Parts: sequence; structure tokens; C-alpha cells
Amino acid sequence: MPFAALGLEPRILAALKEAGYTEPTPIQAAAIPKILTGVDLIGIAQTGTGKTAAFVLPMLQLLASKPPLGRKIRVLVLAPTRELVAQIEENVRAYAKHLPLKMATVYGGVGERPQVMALRENVELIVACPGRLLDLMDQRHGDWTGLQFLVLDEADRMLDMGFLPSIRRVVKKLPKNRQTLLFSATLSPEIEALTHEFLHQPHTVQVGRRSNPAETVTQIAYEVPRHLKLALLVSLLGQPGMDSVLVFSRTKHGADRIARKLESVNIKCGTLHSNRSQNQRLRALGEFKEGKVRVLVATDIAARGIDVDGISHVINYDFPMTNEDYVHRIGRTGRANQVGDALSFVCPDEHGDLRSLERFIGRGLPRKRLEGFDYTSAAPPEPPAPPRGPRQQRPQQPRGGDVGRFRGAGQNRAPGEQRRGGGQSRSWGGR
Ligand code: AMP
Repeated sequence: MPFAALGLEPRILAALKEAGYTEPTPIQAAAIPKILTGVDLIGIAQTGTGKTAAFVLPMLQLLASKPPLGRKIRVLVLAPTRELVAQIEENVRAYAKHLPLKMATVYGGVGERPQVMALRENVELIVACPGRLLDLMDQRHGDWTGLQFLVLDEADRMLDMGFLPSIRRVVKKLPKNRQTLLFSATLSPEIEALTHEFLHQPHTVQVGRRSNPAETVTQIAYEVPRHLKLALLVSLLGQPGMDSVLVFSRTKHGADRIARKLESVNIKCGTLHSNRSQNQRLRALGEFKEGKVRVLVATDIAARGIDVDGISHVINYDFPMTNEDYVHRIGRTGRANQVGDALSFVCPDEHGDLRSLERFIGRGLPRKRLEGFDYTSAAPPEPPAPPRGPRQQRPQQPRGGDVGRFRGAGQNRAPGEQRRGGGQSRSWGGR
């Protein structure tokens, strides 16, 4: 089916042609005609399936069909991270290239002033992260009284990241009579229930099985003792075909440690995590996109929404904290029907997590060992890093004395020692 069959106007069709798009992706074919009728919509699609164009194109069409309302903002797109905001902006600019549309972005970590100035100008479309936007709205910047469209992109992640209170406050300041679109790769029933707070009689379009990673991604589990993970990573990066590799670390410090190790063996890499400045993040992403570095080490939050053409491999150096994170991580490769490989390191204590993931995605991951890699080398003398998750520490047992050795529950507690969690052991690192 050509794009013209969806009822898009010639200026948009010309921009799509220039972007090299020949036909709509399934989520676009399903969502665009519905959005054009003016209904609220929940779109569920795997990452990399073209969901940005699925909501941007019909909005551009509807905007172009009605003249602008003075200085009023007409579209607000909310997204969880600055990188995703920048990427949506890039897409909107490409699709609206032949339209007289003014747009701006709003996110934290950079100066407010240019954003405040942009909100004062004739901007029709804003792409924003909820936190900074709320700050500016509280200072009464922007005229929101003519808002026609609200888009919540990666809605599940925005809610996971604790943006719900900010989103609620932002939405309160918007006109009720608007069209609201919510897009997400995964959508749990709890989050789905919340959507009814923001959407009015929404239609749902769903492409592919819910929570099913892109079919074009080959998924493999590499079983490896924890102390050999860095060595395995270095060996894998030496294999042919490792052209553009995104490596996921669970923590910022872990990402820096991996990067230092790779640099020490002359593998140039970039790092992307929230301790880095916005400029450092954009530079790292830019160099990776341009192919100047072939390896990018990132944490989940920083990597959300990254759209880099031709990522050949995603390596889950640390097993993802949640099954949803896994789906998002591996969605960074195999985008727009290209093929990609997702390799997940699995330590001996992570097999339960792997099985839980396999149930979630509805398929088993083949286990593989790297040929020629020495899996037998001994662990270094220092104790290995703690397993996954920021786990709660046990109260320290006093050394050398008998205090506490034979005590009953609640008796003879050492000074300063407190009973935690009502006596139950709680893991913060589990799913
Ligand atoms: P998204 O899921 O919106 O992040 O899009 C993933 C990638 O697919 C982006 O690089 C888009 O430029 C590309 N894309 C989106 N729609 C199409 C289409 N109809 N044909 C070809 N590529 C597309």
C-alpha cells in the first residue's frame, strides 16, 4: 500500500519520498487512518517499527489542513529522555520539511533561556521531557490554550521512570478538548488502566505480539562466569561482523569501567549515561552514528529510544533489570526490518532471570559458548562484584565476640544494629 492511499497530502508525501520511505510500516498503516478521524489512540508496537511517523504524519496532515491560531502551541509530544526528544525532533523536521511548521524542544540539563524564547515565538509543535516542561509551565511560559494534540511516547517508560506526577500536572494545564495519542512498545495492564486517565474512549492498535522483540533480531544467551565478562566482551568484539555494537551496562560506573577496559585494549568506544553532560552524550551518540567509534557503552536510561541505523549487535553485558528493559534494549538493533544480533551475558546466578525472560518473550534463547575462549581461567583474588541489583545490606555481625550468635529474634541486638524490613529478606534487584 502506498503512503498516498492513507490520505496524506502531497507536501508530506514528497518528504517521505525524500526520506526513502516507499510504503507504510504495519503500525503506520494501522494508526494513521484512525488518527486522521480524530479519535484518541493507544499504539502498541515493537521498537523500531516506525511508531514515530505513525503519530507525526497524521498530526502534520491535520495541522496543515487548519491555519495556525496565532501564537498558540498546537502539539505537545512528551518523551522520557533527551535523546528521544532529539530524535523525534529530527524525524518531525524531516517529515515537515515542506510545511511551514515551527517547532522547539524542551528538556533539562541545558540552559532554560533558549527554550523560554522558543516558547514565546510562533512555535506550533513542542517535543519535551516532562520535568523541564513542567518547570517552564509553572513559570507560565507558553500559550497552551489552543492545544490540539497531546502525544505520550514510550508511555510505559515515562511512568516507570516516575514521571507520572509531572505528567498529571502538565495534562491538568492543557485543554480537555484535544486528541491524545499514547505510544509504547510494552504496556502492562496497570499502565493500560492509567491511560484511561489521559485518553478519551481510546482505540487501540497493536502490531505484532505484545512484548515480542522484533522478529528480525537473532537472540542468543552467552553463559559466562561473572569474572570473565570483560574478557568475553573483548573477545566477542574481535569477531568478524561486530561493526556497530551497543553494549548495555546496568550502572554508570559499570559503563565507565567497561569503557576503560576497551580503551586499554585499543577498542575505541563512546559512553552514554546520565552522569555525562548533554554535550558529551550528544557527541558520543554522534560519533557512534557516523561510525567514528564502533562501540557505544550505555545504561538503559540513556539508551532509551536511540535510533541509529545499522546497529549490528546489542550486547547485554549486564542482564537487564526487567523484561521490558530487555525488549527495549534489543529493539535498538534490527530496526526498520534490518537484521541484528542481541547477545546476553548470563552469569551462573542469573539463570532464573533468563527463564523468566524466556517466559515473557514466549521463546527460548539458544545458549552459546564462544569458540576458542578460555572459560577456565581462575577468578581474580578479590571477591567478585556483587550480583545484580542494588541489594539491601545485611546488618553487620559484630566480629570476634559472641554477641548475636545464639540470640533469638529481636534479642541482644548490637548497638546501632537495626532490624530491617520487618525481619524479611528483601531483594531490590529482582524483577
Ligand atoms: P521508530 O520506530 O519511529 O523509531 O523508527 C525506526 C526507524 O524506521 C527510523 O530510522 C525511521 O526513519 C525508519 N522508518 C520509519 N518509517 C519507515 C518507513 N515507512 N519506511 C522505511 N523506514 C521507516
